[in-house]
Amino acid sequence: MNRPLSLDAFLATDPRDVGCERAMEILHVYADLTLAGSDPESRYPGMAAHLRACGPCAEDFDDLLEAVTAAPATAPGRNAENGDGDGDEGGDGRHANR
Ligand SMILES: [Zn+2]
Repeated sequence: MNRPLSLDAFLATDPRDVGCERAMEILHVYADLTLAGSDPESRYPGMAAHLRACGPCAEDFDDLLEAVTAAPATAPGRNAENGDGDGDEGGDGRHANR
């Protein structure tokens, strides 16, 4: 079994890692999914792997998320409370982390 010099780097990297170029291409999509509360990791496991492995891209991703969340975008479709008063307030107290 030959051991190319890059084997260490390869082993340290998730084989699903999409790489920087591709990561940059889908960064905004991934951010959208993240903000939408979708499951971006299951959709783009390679992207998730890359963000874990690549500091600069993870930083870009954080910046992008911050930029998008800081923008006065339309409030996420919050259900108007229909006052039928059954007191079933399922608020999970989720706050945006800043
Ligand atoms: Zn990268």
